[in-house]
Amino acid sequence: MPTDEPMGFKLELTLCDRTIEAEVPIPNQKMRVADLLPVLLSFDEAVVGMAADKAESEGRKISCREGCGACCRQLVPISEAEAVYLAELVAAMPAERQTRVRERFREALAALGEPLVERLRDTGQFKDLAARRVLGEEYFHRGVACPFLEDERCSIYPHRPMPCREYLVTSPAENCQKPTAETVRPVDVPIKLSQILYQFGDGVGNQPTRWIPLVLALELVGEQRTYPAPEMFKNFVSRIRG
Ligand code: SF4
Repeated sequence: MPTDEPMGFKLELTLCDRTIEAEVPIPNQKMRVADLLPVLLSFDEAVVGMAADKAESEGRKISCREGCGACCRQLVPISEAEAVYLAELVAAMPAERQTRVRERFREALAALGEPLVERLRDTGQFKDLAARRVLGEEYFHRGVACPFLEDERCSIYPHRPMPCREYLVTSPAENCQKPTAETVRPVDVPIKLSQILYQFGDGVGNQPTRWIPLVLALELVGEQRTYPAPEMFKNFVSRIRG
């Protein structure tokens, strides 16, 4: 008989010559993937931290710093759960701030231009890596900042989506203004949880892989069904272990 008592999941994951050991409390109740996201985001933070430590131990200093928002002008594909999470985060902001953020979303879409936005709405093409690259280049050339970027800082830093967390570079920060494969050296993150989350759908495998451009998070957000959280979490961890 399910109770609301959280269930403790023992996790042990070895990556980059280090081991994460944690006991993760998961509520024993039905939830949406979006509700499980805080746990999954902390997990992603730990994985990325291990990759960053490894890079620095090899003499490759991370050049990403607060106040450098060059990468925040890129097309950021997020999962459906993250779109729900961000839309609810915005909806919970105080009225004045919420109005300003919603305005920035509208301004960003206007600056990208309707033809490009229409193509971004056709999220089916995100499955195709080549099409995603072309869209990504066009998007970056517009120079449109993420609506959450304020004074070159992420205004939702603790809540930022996985792709933002997983992008760290060791090349000079100024190279990110005009990034190329030769001039920008990203940190190699051994397991990108964002990739699992794109395919995670509703948490039990009943929805297809979906990518949503962050800039469309407030409009493409969908309903998420609820499932027992322990089952979803086990499903996520089993995908990490492959
Ligand atoms: S969510 Fe934050 S880190 Fe991610 S692109 Fe936007 S401003 Fe940058």
